[in-house]
Amino acid sequence: MPKAARSICVFCGARPGADAAFMAEAHAVGTMLAQKGLRLVYGAGDVGIMGEVARAALAAGGDTMGVIPTHLMQAERGRRDLGALVITETMHERKKVMFANSDAILVLPGGAGSLDEFFEVLTWRQLGLHAKPIYILNSGGYWGPLAALIDHVIAHGFAEPSLRGFYTLLPDLGALDARLTEFAA
Ligand code: AMP
Repeated sequence: MPKAARSICVFCGARPGADAAFMAEAHAVGTMLAQKGLRLVYGAGDVGIMGEVARAALAAGGDTMGVIPTHLMQAERGRRDLGALVITETMHERKKVMFANSDAILVLPGGAGSLDEFFEVLTWRQLGLHAKPIYILNSGGYWGPLAALIDHVIAHGFAEPSLRGFYTLLPDLGALDARLTEFAA
């Protein structure tokens, strides 16, 4: 498996979601990362959206790195056949290792875990602790309420309008493709 030049950390659901379109898009994203020569850094599990992204990336010959805490190896069916696998003690370590090994962040549909991961990198960006791009794929408008919540926080004076500039909401796979092409160059 060739070593990829740049790495994308994908935060996404450990469940497939209620609409089959989410898994179909996850598959397309995994394939896209591999085709662009981008390494997938993710939670190492074989479940839900994250499992699908990784299966597609591996099937397309992409490079992968998984990071998972010991206590989730069983519940999230941690894969041992990835380009690299890091097993951590804690969730905090997991996020730290994923972030440290990535050049950009991509958020796909997910639940509370994905939100936690997104807000952590967003707040680090707000504090000037990094300048890695944060992309959100707004699959079928799924993350619209998240963007609206951030607008609400800004409108009520609890964040600078600049917060909006620290992430990019991408409407569809075409927009993601264009961003990743730029990013991979
Ligand atoms: P979810 O979006 O809730 O399906 O979770 C997506 C992924 O985030 C799963 O692999 C969870 O194990 C992980 N996760 C959940 N909570 C946290 C957390 N506090 N810190 C890091 N990862 C988490």
